[in-house]
Amino acid sequence: MEYIKSKIRDVVDFPQKGIIFKDLTTVFKDPRALHIIGWDLSQLYRDKGVTKVVGIESRGFIGGSILAFELGAGFVPVRKPGKLPADTISASYEKEYGTDTIEIHRDAITENDVVVLHDDVLATGGTMLAAYNLVKSLNPKKIYINFIIELTALKGRDILPEEVEVTSLIKY
Ligand code: AMP
Repeated sequence: MEYIKSKIRDVVDFPQKGIIFKDLTTVFKDPRALHIIGWDLSQLYRDKGVTKVVGIESRGFIGGSILAFELGAGFVPVRKPGKLPADTISASYEKEYGTDTIEIHRDAITENDVVVLHDDVLATGGTMLAAYNLVKSLNPKKIYINFIIELTALKGRDILPEEVEVTSLIKY
């Protein structure tokens, strides 16, 4: 984990003043760090019968795809409005820097699915809560929530549903 931490780049005042942005591109471009991320994420869900990993646009697509591949599960994107071509459902929410809407294909998740929702960073939790509500409305058997990084000072975990198991690889 120290190796991954050493590859995370802090970018000050991005995308606006006062934000310290946790840049994971410097992790993903490093073959050893990428391999460790895939392995460590998948170890959290090995015995849980996961059938779909839902990744949140756009940084959640990277870790989410790797996790899905490692688990032998499918991958489902949650995207910004107007990007998904077929029938969608949507949710709006507040985030650390602005308001946003996300969408998922209505047929992406079924009642037989065991789902891991994945994003790169947990900040205020607004994005993940909206994604959780979207997926929940499609009635899967079980939903887990996962991040690579959790910014604990922002207490995002507190707004996520208590009954859901939330994991993160690295806490700051
Ligand atoms: P939130 O809804 O506040 O939890 O914001 C989470 C989303 O915004 C995730 O998709 C992150 O990629 C991104 N994000 C928010 N804050 C940061 C940060 N300090 N560093 C990197 N990404 C961030």
